[in-house]
Amino acid sequence: MKRTPKTFRSGKALFLDRDGVINVDHGYVHRAQDCNFMPGIFELAKAAMRLGYRIIIVTNQSGIARGYYSRDQFHAFSCWLEQQFWRRGILISHTYHCPHHPAQTGPFGFPCSCRKPRPGMLFKARKDFGIRLDKSIMVGDSLSDMRCARMAGVGKAILLREPEAHFAPKLEANTKKPYYRASSLHAIKSLLLSGSHS
Ligand SMILES: [Mg+2]
Ligand SMILES: [Zn+2]
Repeated sequence: MKRTPKTFRSGKALFLDRDGVINVDHGYVHRAQDCNFMPGIFELAKAAMRLGYRIIIVTNQSGIARGYYSRDQFHAFSCWLEQQFWRRGILISHTYHCPHHPAQTGPFGFPCSCRKPRPGMLFKARKDFGIRLDKSIMVGDSLSDMRCARMAGVGKAILLREPEAHFAPKLEANTKKPYYRASSLHAIKSLLLSGSHS
């Protein structure tokens, strides 16, 4: 049974997509030497933790289904990644990943309930840690992260995008629940600290 430290009793979580939020998305990053951290990620995580949010990573890793890297390689990299936070005094409660892809063949080539935008990983987190999804926040750099948050009933979804980034308007129109947009992780940290997210 998982003990819940007092700090986390509110049940709120900051869900972080990985590629493009924690590390620069170079495409299928799976080795420490290829990992460049996004500016402001540690500051954001630390601020959130101080506010009582659990930090939870939710990441699609179809590179596993595609055979670009193994699940063991993914876990080794995740372990290293979590250590980089821990060294800075930040606890990552868990890294949830989806290794599947519906268009691939092989052991992970099937449609699943965890590949974002499907909300499976968030529901798993809710079960594992007693997360209150309505009090939680999701930060992602793609609209599928926003959809996933909406389907799971996450309180606030924040899309991290450069202002000049190209959007597919059709997809945006389909996103019924409003989400925030931020051009940097620093901006998200400010939003958190100002309390205007709630
Ligand atoms: Mg991403
Ligand atoms: Zn999956």
